[in-house]
Amino acid sequence: MSREYIIPIFIPHAGCKKICVFCNEYSATGIREKPDIKNLDETFEKYISYFPEKVNPYIAFYGATFTGMETEKMKYYLNWAEKKINQKKAFGIRFSTSPEEITEEKINILKNYTINFIEIGIQSFFDDILNAANRPHNLNDVWNAIDLLEKHNMDYGVHLMTGLPESSYNKDITSAIITTMLKAKSVRIHPTVVLKNSTLEKMYKNGEYIPETLDIAIDKVAKMTEIIEASGKKVIRLGICLYGKERENVVAGPYHDSFGDLVRTKIAEDIMKNFPDLVVPIKFKSNFIGFKKKNLKLLENSNISFHNEEYFIYQNKKYSYIEILNRVIK
Ligand code: SF4
Repeated sequence: MSREYIIPIFIPHAGCKKICVFCNEYSATGIREKPDIKNLDETFEKYISYFPEKVNPYIAFYGATFTGMETEKMKYYLNWAEKKINQKKAFGIRFSTSPEEITEEKINILKNYTINFIEIGIQSFFDDILNAANRPHNLNDVWNAIDLLEKHNMDYGVHLMTGLPESSYNKDITSAIITTMLKAKSVRIHPTVVLKNSTLEKMYKNGEYIPETLDIAIDKVAKMTEIIEASGKKVIRLGICLYGKERENVVAGPYHDSFGDLVRTKIAEDIMKNFPDLVVPIKFKSNFIGFKKKNLKLLENSNISFHNEEYFIYQNKKYSYIEILNRVIK
């Protein structure tokens, strides 16, 4: 898959009707102001200057409930982005939003713009978890949003979280299983971390919330990724995105700069344990060796080898990655 270039525009908490217990976009992004045209242009040009020439970047609005903003405000951002598209400087628009803010009326507005992808923050398919997380939506809103997006053929992705208050191993795994039944193009998963100045920080300090350990989060997110990718969907991002000094705003919880690599290392370990004599596409080699060579001993004690093809070979038969994962999760 060719690399996609994204210009992220953060509009912290714009359109959020409630503040989720785990969230503090100011702590996560370090950005406090909602950008105006001047800020938008500056951010756009900054990213363009980092990218190689002749790439077609996407403009992505994050950190907000994008369709929860007042219509005029939403159009303000969409018009700015569409202008870049008309000038052939950008390829399309993406944003994240919350399910209750996907309505027929809003989709009719969005259809006037080059929207390529919408990420819906579902987080969990359990109402008690959504409620405990102070999410602005319930499960009914989730299904309404999915029905509308699928009816209007709009490409969407799903964001899931693990370790929220009221969650459990089985509930989080079940959310992954339900996700496999959707027409979502991609999935992001991140374990809950306690951010400075979030409600969860108070709950954690009062002893009302105990975060997952890093090991538990890795094991669980690896299992969820195996389940989702075994269904043919791609998990495109693992772990919360924090940059620079925003990482210092993590008070507690399973944060790791290389969380995605740790999860991919665990998936490779699971594959090796199931297939100790497998021929593996070379592109997976770094995962099989593992983050900080975690799997090296297991690899050296196995009969795993690598080749330059895209398929796996087990007992003289070819298998795709999806087929291998389907055997792993059985
Ligand atoms: S998680 Fe999303 S909906 Fe919740 S407060 Fe943060 S930006 Fe708003």
